[in-house]
Amino acid sequence: MARKKNGGKKVGATYLSPGVYVEEVSSGSKPIEGVGTAVAAFVGLAERRPVRAAVTALVALSVVAAAIASLAGRFSSDRWRVRPFRAPHHTASGIAIVGGGSHARPGEISLAHHGVLFLDELPEWDRRVLEVLREPLESGVINISRAARQSTFPAQFQLVAAMNPCPCGWYGHPGGRCRCGPDFVRRYRSRISGPLLDRIDLAIDVPAVPASVLEATATPAAESPAAQARVVAVRERQVTRQGKCNARLSAGELALCDATPGAMQTLTRAMSRMQLSARAFHRVLKVARTIADLAGDARVEAPHAAEALAYRRAVVERESACGEPAGR
Ligand SMILES: [Zn+2]
Repeated sequence: MARKKNGGKKVGATYLSPGVYVEEVSSGSKPIEGVGTAVAAFVGLAERRPVRAAVTALVALSVVAAAIASLAGRFSSDRWRVRPFRAPHHTASGIAIVGGGSHARPGEISLAHHGVLFLDELPEWDRRVLEVLREPLESGVINISRAARQSTFPAQFQLVAAMNPCPCGWYGHPGGRCRCGPDFVRRYRSRISGPLLDRIDLAIDVPAVPASVLEATATPAAESPAAQARVVAVRERQVTRQGKCNARLSAGELALCDATPGAMQTLTRAMSRMQLSARAFHRVLKVARTIADLAGDARVEAPHAAEALAYRRAVVERESACGEPAGR
């Protein structure tokens, strides 16, 4: 690798040691047991590909992603340092999603580590597979037990899911095209359990967009760089404040959200009215903190809490349509 100038100082090329990777993972207080195999897999990669000594957190995260992809036999140099985006099909097997097999391999949730796992047509997924997602959504790791052997893979992914409002997809359309009966719609939605919905922070209904509006709308691509810059700035703000992004704050660290008494009152009132679980309460507070960060506000105010609750309300309404309580 060519030597490059960096802030007036020359930074030489070197090999990234597995120790750096372990240190970066540990700094986030993340469990690292079992990822030693991934580190070993990376050694071979590092020997072939020099990495600059000035290791940034993003590089370290990339190393984790590369190690997991390497273990799964899917490493691509083209995707190096790009956060993963995985969109498996709903017919994929449980092992393909979670990981496993006779020689335990990482699944899609680990391949999406520090990236996005997109599940389209959510109610079409095998419910047993969806239920397994609950553990890694909380802990950021997946434990796989096969016979006498246990494996642990990192799986700190951002879950993004999409679903139709009913089997035909036209429920609620002003044209009245939906022909699904209420029981049919309820059964369809109840394929997603309350406890899984409890772990989803933002739910947004996206109405059908008329073709005339689509044609009249300017290309959204122009907005993307500005949105990306805002996201990067907000993440940096969070890391500066607390050493991690808001989503990774534990229940014991929620004082760092710095909510005003008014914001806490808004949240506690909503907790009883919406019958939120303690987990949901904590998650709403973290979303409110992020909304405040996006607005550049030092403290979480009542309007931030109210906006976060609005995103949760859509989840609760969907849940009540399912008739299954959350909070487990
Ligand atoms: Zn329908």
